[in-house]
Amino acid sequence: MIKTDIIIIGAGPVGLFTVFEAGLMKLRCHLIDTIPQIGGQLSELYPKKPIYDIPGFPSILAGKLVENLMEQASPFNPGFTLGERAEKIIKNNDNSFTVITDKNTKHKAPIVIISGGLGSFEPRKPKIDNLSFYEDKGVNYMVKNPENLNKKNIFISGGGDSALDWAIYFAENSDNRVGLIHRSSNFRAHKESVEKIFLLEKQNKIKIYLNSQVTKLIGENNLNQIIISDDSGNNTEVKSDHWFPLFGLIPRLGPILNWGLNIEKNAIVVNNSLDYSTNIKGIFAVGDINTYQGKLKLILCGFHEATVAVKAAYKLINPEKKYVMKYTTIQGVQGFEKNN
Ligand SMILES: Cc1cc2nc3c(=O)[nH]c(=O)nc-3n(C[C@H](O)[C@H](O)[C@H](O)COP(=O)(O)OP(=O)(O)OC[C@H]3O[C@@H](n4cnc5c(N)ncnc54)[C@H](O)[C@@H]3O)c2cc1C
Repeated sequence: MIKTDIIIIGAGPVGLFTVFEAGLMKLRCHLIDTIPQIGGQLSELYPKKPIYDIPGFPSILAGKLVENLMEQASPFNPGFTLGERAEKIIKNNDNSFTVITDKNTKHKAPIVIISGGLGSFEPRKPKIDNLSFYEDKGVNYMVKNPENLNKKNIFISGGGDSALDWAIYFAENSDNRVGLIHRSSNFRAHKESVEKIFLLEKQNKIKIYLNSQVTKLIGENNLNQIIISDDSGNNTEVKSDHWFPLFGLIPRLGPILNWGLNIEKNAIVVNNSLDYSTNIKGIFAVGDINTYQGKLKLILCGFHEATVAVKAAYKLINPEKKYVMKYTTIQGVQGFEKNN
């Protein structure tokens, strides 16, 4: 059981900034996210796009903003459960909450702040027989712990940035045998990545299968072979220990709908005149996931909401203490020791 002061569901920009604001009030945080990386939409959808409306930054790349937010939060040593979806919230007898993920990791805290954006990013799955049998037995929709893959036969399907970035990573950084399979002959990824992938093919570091798709998965207990079929009807059987179909992620509210929260327009209704609390005492919702009259789905609005919600969380955790707001220019940023 992971114990903390605030469980944050969603490690997007708003969840990350919540760690900083909570840290200023000496509250520890643990973040949960379905995807194995931090940054939410900024990392998943537009890491290389400039953002022009972050106060104090006339222009900043989305990926750089995520990096900065993590640097800002890091003195407060947040914990992370990444690559797992928050599935259930249980209210305990002592009024605390237990949040359980789809991999059965349990987290306990007096406060839950939901910064789940548009919902958890779920993979687009290909239509192929026996797919679910091989999930986590050779078939994965996200690459977790790539450093653990060595001397393996790795195949990646997809034509976007994620597919090409990982294909390049494995071709350049590992001694795996790597194949990239794409159903068309045009890639949607950045031009530099496309140039790079063809260069790696010339150097025999990767094999590219164009106008092709995986049509069959073979293996008794784990994935062992795949069949790649091209548009002319030719089938190629290859040894494959891992197949990553990287066809993009789509956000789904999913389990959030079952937590007893008031939902309107696919978002959680909050009390914006007070503190962004939900209808359940101790649970707050900030960022793109919430709704109220006049709501704007913008990063800076999420930052404000997180700041106000954390102050209310402090009062719930410390009913006997009076919180006096101090500017960081006066009190500085006093981080936490690890494991303290
Ligand atoms: C192309 C594009 C351009 C944009 N440009 C701008 C801009 O210029 N300026 C601006 O202010 N805004 C912009 N936005 C909007 C901005 O990205 C969002 O306002 C911002 O990402 C919201 O942050 P968030 O932390 O609330 O949610 P998100 O960034 O959506 O992060 C939410 C995270 O929660 C996770 N999650 C959800 N449910 C669960 C669950 N049950 N368990 C575990 N994890 C869960 C998700 O996987 C996700 O990683 C843009 C959006 C897009 C798509």
